[in-house]
Amino acid sequence: MVPGTYQKIKAIGLISGGLDSLIAAKLIQDQGIEVIGITFSSPFWDYRRTLAIGEKAGIPMKVIDMGEEHFGIVKNPTYGYGSYMNPCIDCHALMIKKAAEVMEETGASFIFTGEVVGQRPMSQRKEALRIIEKLSGYEGKILRPLSALLLPESEPEKQGLVDRSRLLGIGGRGRKEQLSLAKYYGIMEYDTPGGGCLLTKEGYAKKLKVLLSLFPNAHVRHAEILKYGRLFVIQEKFCLVVGRHSEDNAAISTMAKEEEAIFYCKKIPGPVGILLNLRDHLSESVVQEAALILASLSDAERGHQVEVSFRHLGRSDTITVIAIYRDQLGSRFIK
Ligand code: SF4
Repeated sequence: MVPGTYQKIKAIGLISGGLDSLIAAKLIQDQGIEVIGITFSSPFWDYRRTLAIGEKAGIPMKVIDMGEEHFGIVKNPTYGYGSYMNPCIDCHALMIKKAAEVMEETGASFIFTGEVVGQRPMSQRKEALRIIEKLSGYEGKILRPLSALLLPESEPEKQGLVDRSRLLGIGGRGRKEQLSLAKYYGIMEYDTPGGGCLLTKEGYAKKLKVLLSLFPNAHVRHAEILKYGRLFVIQEKFCLVVGRHSEDNAAISTMAKEEEAIFYCKKIPGPVGILLNLRDHLSESVVQEAALILASLSDAERGHQVEVSFRHLGRSDTITVIAIYRDQLGSRFIK
């Protein structure tokens, strides 16, 4: 640094799109510190909305991909799951690790989050906050501006990078103080806490759990495909994802790889289906069952013949099946 020049302190803020993280960023900006907001991309949520919310609140934002690593902890979390398939403690720790990489790259001095002590049962108990820090390798170094006065002094406070007296002591599930701060800072747009994560949604979590039980080596792309349809299990081994509407069908068609079998109805409006966990051999009985499911979800009248085409490893064929009632598909239907 040239003598006499002043270098502004920079901090990395984890921005979830929720009110708490936006207020945390505002509190830090108020202290004259440059904030770089980061949000993460993963198949389980749509980062674009968070990006837009952060920018609208006046926070310069960066998007960091953590899809692969995140799916790794979803498969095997050290600290288990919340209500559904959400490994929140491991997930927070991973986010901090990723934020630390950005801190190194940008020359920032510390990381802060919008976590509030006692707000969420799994990841925001005091003990959980400590575990998250330990798991991430940044014990004592993370600042939580909203709850700082309820927590031991963090490194950034000890080093005088932030003024502790201008931080807050909010705890618990109440939202009154946050709502009045939102008004003060003019923050009009934000998400509900945890609202956007598919892992906290019962329907998606159920599908993912079944996929992982049958296909432990599933790739992040398979988790992505599950978003675009209903899940059926064929012969207790194969996962067939069937689109619910034209957008799902288009997504499934473009995401399919050659080794996966794609099914679609001929001559009659109907869904597109993809068989995910194919081993080397696609038996005729599996093809028949997949075709039956497609036909029964098509616009064909029950009891009528439906032609269903499929493609797999360069082979294309069409078979004819009789459409049955949807509730006759029975336990094959997962969600
Ligand atoms: S709700 Fe989802 S995104 Fe949020 S911490 Fe939990 S797993 Fe991560």
